[in-house]
Amino acid sequence: MKNNLESVMDRIKQAAVSSGRNPETIRLVAVSKTIPAETVEKAIDAGADILGENYIQEARTKFNDLSSYPVSWHFIGHLQTNKAKYAVRIFDLIHSVDSLKLAIELDKQAKKTDKIQNILIQVNVADESSKSGVSVQNTLNLVKEISDLKNLAIKGLMTMPPFFNAPEKVRPFFKNLRSLRDQISKESIHNVAMDELSMGMTGDFEVAIEEGATLVRIGTAIFGERI
Ligand SMILES: *Cc1c(COP(=O)(O)O)cnc(C)c1O
Repeated sequence: MKNNLESVMDRIKQAAVSSGRNPETIRLVAVSKTIPAETVEKAIDAGADILGENYIQEARTKFNDLSSYPVSWHFIGHLQTNKAKYAVRIFDLIHSVDSLKLAIELDKQAKKTDKIQNILIQVNVADESSKSGVSVQNTLNLVKEISDLKNLAIKGLMTMPPFFNAPEKVRPFFKNLRSLRDQISKESIHNVAMDELSMGMTGDFEVAIEEGATLVRIGTAIFGERI
């Protein structure tokens, strides 16, 4: 596992350098969903400092088990409104906000603890009915609406593109997310930063880095196949 993590970190560095980017502008989110705390502990010891979780219940347990470690927790799964209160207690960044309803609830819960909750807007770049995320056409509007919520801070965009065996096929979707980011950035919306692009997983993170990813979410290449 240590070797896997080191090799992933190395590949991130190489992809950055070969596309003329500073490797320090790309952060690795080690996706630890379904992985037991003991194994995650080893990953932390080997240098993982951001953990990505998909399920609130599981994350709450692991967050408690691993509370002595100075790691950052990111939520990357589909978030139900009724779990928002737990999410704001645990996560430094929520990648998957895709509706005003969810944003309003997160804002309300964040306000209770005087937290400014950092979020990304999840975009459904290929308009797949099976996937969460706001459509490309509605993203700007949603960003504007959420920008009025005082206890939320939008930091950028996230996407889960369609799956292909050949990573090159995913490139156009990464490009689309990046150009959407640039478009929204030009609007200079108050309280909105468009610094982060969360895209790229085990099968395609190098392509994502070439297209501007600042957060890559990698599970399998670090922890092996999930059971
Ligand atoms: C599981 C998951 C990942 C990691 O996928 P791998 O292919 O195992 O690297 C990344 N992002 C999201 C949203 C996920 O649910």
